[in-house]
Amino acid sequence: MPLKDRIPVAVLGATGSVGQRMVTLLERHPWFRLGSVTASERSVGRLFQEAANWVLPTPIPEEVAGMQVYSTGPELEERLLFSALDASVAGSVETEYAERGHVVVSNARNHRMDPDVPLLVPEVNPDHLDLVARQSFGGGAIIANPNCSTIGMALALAPLHRAFGVERVNVVTLQAISGAGIPGVSSLQIIDNIIPYISGEEEKLETEPLKILGELADGVVAPAPVTVSAQCNRVPVVDGHTLCISVELGRTVSAEAIIDVWDSFRSEPHALGLPSAPSRPVVYLDEPDQPQPRMHRDLGNGMAVAVGRLRPCPLLGWKFVTTSHNTVRGAAGGALLCAELAVARRAVEGFRDFESGVSDS
Ligand code: NAP
Repeated sequence: MPLKDRIPVAVLGATGSVGQRMVTLLERHPWFRLGSVTASERSVGRLFQEAANWVLPTPIPEEVAGMQVYSTGPELEERLLFSALDASVAGSVETEYAERGHVVVSNARNHRMDPDVPLLVPEVNPDHLDLVARQSFGGGAIIANPNCSTIGMALALAPLHRAFGVERVNVVTLQAISGAGIPGVSSLQIIDNIIPYISGEEEKLETEPLKILGELADGVVAPAPVTVSAQCNRVPVVDGHTLCISVELGRTVSAEAIIDVWDSFRSEPHALGLPSAPSRPVVYLDEPDQPQPRMHRDLGNGMAVAVGRLRPCPLLGWKFVTTSHNTVRGAAGGALLCAELAVARRAVEGFRDFESGVSDS
């Protein structure tokens, strides 16, 4: 699609850990074109390349390097906004933009559990996008991308829940430092160390999956009847969250049956050919020492979850390990996939010219 025909978008909080991934993934996005970037007053008025403390191994995309950073809050031309804002400001700012008619796809925690906001993992609960019609923002909308660890876990649990029913889950996370934002944890805190506490994280892992796996009926999501116990740790890995998960299923199944439902898991984003959808959302690895973050976080362009080490658990029945990229699948890439699904499903009005482009391709 020619550049001029792509949907113009803005990134709120573009200078941070997630914002940098967003502007990088937008550089060659076939549907979306980056128009504006915003950040805090610290950055406003500066060129993006001066304001951003760039941490990615790829160069700053040329199209954004020379952009001026705008203030967050005032009117923006672009209707579709990706929010990578700090949670201290995201809640009210996102509401205000939605009330002014913008469609906000958010990485922040603030609106995730609002009853009329879809908490979307596009492969798992695409139908929850119907909640947008119940929002009272006029033409605007808020769509929430879940917590970065939650997304990896939900992708691994969803095929099991569909096939066998998931009843209880115990998860211990090993979370990368890029998940703490910029500057995040200091080197003196994290090198040669593990920090067994991430503020608010365990509550998110114990509540968000229930909404994601829940059933939408009559405009209400009934949470899935699953109990989750989570323990979260920060570890000295740059990117990629690893989760050690034990699970109790609703019936007795074999390891082969579990691996088969993971391997065959496909869903709407794949069928629609959405640009950010991985061909295989869940990739099972047979080697006994896998998955590992450095080796597997980039599977499916960072959009797949790697799963391995399936074995019996004497407490809950089965246990396994997952690894997924926290700022790609768990944030920027996941938010793009949410927006692609919203456009393709016509969940929001006003992207009509573009929609004809989707069906042509
Ligand atoms: P970050 O590196 O700290 O970046 C925060 C961004 O928000 C920066 O662009 C910052 O701008 C901007 N900001 C801070 N205070 C502001 C204010 N008062 N007004 C306007 N803008 C302000 O954080 P992050 O890790 O990218 O996370 C961004 C959001 O995504 C958070 O809500 C986080 O919980 C969520 N999230 C993060 C991850 C991850 O893996 N990192 C994964 C999933 C979700 P300045 O540079 O000008 O300060």
